[in-house]
Amino acid sequence: ARGGEPGYLEGLNAAQREAVETLDGPVLMLAGAGTGKTKALTTRIAHLIHTGRARPNEILAVTFTNKAAREMKERVGRLLGGAIEGVPWLGTFHSVCVKLLRRHAELVGLKANFTILDTDDQVRLLKQLILAANMDEKRWPARQLAGLIDGWKNRALTPERVRGAETAAFNNRGSELYAAYQERLVTLNAVDFGDLLLHMVTIFQTHADVLAQYQRWFRYILVDEYQDTNVAQYLWLRLLAQGHRNICCVGDDDQSIYGWRGAEVGNILRFEKDFPGAAVIRLEQNYRSTEHILAAASRLISGNEGRLGKTLWTEARGGEKVRLIGHWDGEEEARWIGEEIEALAAGRRALGPVRLSDQAILVRASHQMRAFEDRFLSIGLPYRVIGGPRFYERLEIRDAMAYFRLAVSPEDDLAFERVINTPKRGLGDKAQARIQSLARETGVGLLEAARLMVAEGELSGKAGGQLRQFVEAVDRWHAEIRAASPATAVTAAEDDELLIEPEEGGIAPANDHSHVRLAERILEESGYVEMWLNDKTPEAPGRLENLKELVKALEQFDNLQGFLEHVALIMDNDRDESGDKVSIMTLHGAKGLEFPVVFLPGWEDGLFPSQRAMDETGQKGLEEERRLGYVGITRAERLCTISFAGNRRVYGQWQSQLPSRFIDELPAADVEVLTPPGLYGGGFGAAGAYGGAGAGFSGGSRLEERAGRADVYNSPGWKRLQAQGGQSAAPARRGAQVFDADAEDFEIGERVFHKKFGYGRVVATEGDKLVVDFEKAGEKKLLASFVVPAAQ
Ligand code: ATP
Ligand code: MG
Repeated sequence: ARGGEPGYLEGLNAAQREAVETLDGPVLMLAGAGTGKTKALTTRIAHLIHTGRARPNEILAVTFTNKAAREMKERVGRLLGGAIEGVPWLGTFHSVCVKLLRRHAELVGLKANFTILDTDDQVRLLKQLILAANMDEKRWPARQLAGLIDGWKNRALTPERVRGAETAAFNNRGSELYAAYQERLVTLNAVDFGDLLLHMVTIFQTHADVLAQYQRWFRYILVDEYQDTNVAQYLWLRLLAQGHRNICCVGDDDQSIYGWRGAEVGNILRFEKDFPGAAVIRLEQNYRSTEHILAAASRLISGNEGRLGKTLWTEARGGEKVRLIGHWDGEEEARWIGEEIEALAAGRRALGPVRLSDQAILVRASHQMRAFEDRFLSIGLPYRVIGGPRFYERLEIRDAMAYFRLAVSPEDDLAFERVINTPKRGLGDKAQARIQSLARETGVGLLEAARLMVAEGELSGKAGGQLRQFVEAVDRWHAEIRAASPATAVTAAEDDELLIEPEEGGIAPANDHSHVRLAERILEESGYVEMWLNDKTPEAPGRLENLKELVKALEQFDNLQGFLEHVALIMDNDRDESGDKVSIMTLHGAKGLEFPVVFLPGWEDGLFPSQRAMDETGQKGLEEERRLGYVGITRAERLCTISFAGNRRVYGQWQSQLPSRFIDELPAADVEVLTPPGLYGGGFGAAGAYGGAGAGFSGGSRLEERAGRADVYNSPGWKRLQAQGGQSAAPARRGAQVFDADAEDFEIGERVFHKKFGYGRVVATEGDKLVVDFEKAGEKKLLASFVVPAAQ
């Protein structure tokens, strides 16, 4: 420290110092990714405490994720050399509001020990209210209402404040049901997540004395990721800041990624109006990423209109280019990334050894995680999923698994309880209690008790019919599983050509996939898929995607039992969050974080940008996706790898994917196109637009861009990839590439590819089998599902 200056100021650039030292009055720090906004913000907290401007508990500091809050606490602690106990009002909006609301709960009719409902509870409660209002829950699903109410709460609208056209929402009953819901919550002494802020805003607006108390108390207010605040959060902050007016907000309009959840990037733009005389500080030096990474991110985001616009530069010259790689399919992508992570960890790449915890995979949609989790489990690569449950812990996955469990073993009472009324079968608490007591009385399982009730005609009307259907369905599924015992499920092989050798890593041999089709049917026949199809909440499409992903996972197993065991083992896999592990998370969850090595898989149109954003008219959705891409690339410090797959299986059907339009927007000079070893021998990268020497992936009209991509698709390299993908030298799990083909799907004379026998032509079809004349192996008879169509 020079001149007795506190050490934490050392190394800050001039703009950061200004942000740290401008303590009085409103400050807006507006700057691009990795410019040290969060660093300046934490240093500011340390400075406030160190200079005695505020005691730790007079500082209110909010951010968005728990992880970000935790990191901020640690940073402040380190800056002050452990001199303080902590900053008690540093946390997420929600965690701070819970604390405040417990103190003033009585002002909104609650007791201090109120409970916080999760989404499931919330939906259950809303269902009751919908039924009580004599509405058809099928037409007017509770989840839709939940979404509506959340939206209102994000905008700080209490039931009385819902006005105009919006009162017509939900069959003209929306605001009325909202009011009933709020009343019911008070009776239950409960709140939902949205209430935490809403109640605090209400309290501040109606109790001037309480507001004044906190306005005095919080001498300094700091907000990170300000671009993602919603209206309720904004009002809450504005109310609190009117006292001392010492509010410092930090954000980046280019990283606003929560528009879909009510965030208003306009809050940033309004800051100077709300707080006249605010000091606006811009930071331009990026300290996080090397040159090429920053250049790629900057170019991508320049495709958005109406930006505030920022210049970013870095002193970190050189370094690795952003790597781009195409794969045959999603499994291949997961396999390659797993190998790459291991190679990096072992120091086999230019960067030298990179610890697992310094590497992250950032996905657009949570269902993408499944392929990675499965792959990493099978090769024993430690990983953690950050922010949100792991794939197999998700609600819809656990429901689906409960159905599978019940089909495999009808005695599984826990599974029965989970799904008996999901989807709703009119079996309320009373009917379920009756099943329970009957089971106890007669000493049988729940399904048997249900069967008894059906037989005795105990339940009348619709519920009775539905219960009968349920029992019959479980019986049917179970019978099917028993009929296809593992030995026969693989192949009743008359000739050994039908057998596929077990794959490495203990993954089950390929099979006829009858259990996959059964699983699909279970989800259909139970009404479970339909339940989500009818669901209008924003999460529903994601849940359906996850279900498809689950079915896809089944393909790598012999039968349902094997799969259930696999999952049981995963769930048992140590939940220890510490240790050297790769991080897997969504792009949304990665906001504010940084990793030396970042993988960005699935850059394909329809996945990223998402189909929904592409279907929207106008550019709004697409621009938010582009910001997500910017967030993703700028998480990387030293190495960023973008990948895409040419094929993805969607509900048992192969679907060809186009590389993401965002890939075209990357600057060629900063991107290195990789060719995966052993996959398609140098073809793809060298051919077509991607190899174009400095020509750029961007430029030209949108149409030309699309045409450019079609070129890639028609390029010899891509075609070779299509043709050769099946014969990848890679030993792992080609079973995933088996088409759900029927012999009729093939024509005589058609060229096909088989994992073991190579290329050949179909000479005859017999039921589900084909006779193929292989170029090297001669004539063989085999199951049609073991060959894939090949280029002629
Ligand atoms: P994001 O927009 O992604 O949230 P940010 O602007 O908050 O980014 P930080 O996370 O604060 O950026 O900083 C990015 C990285 O740069 C961190 O590793 C931080 O320690 C480092 N850094 C920030 N300022 C400086 C500086 N003046 N000197 C050296 N390193 C710095
Ligand atoms: Mg930050």
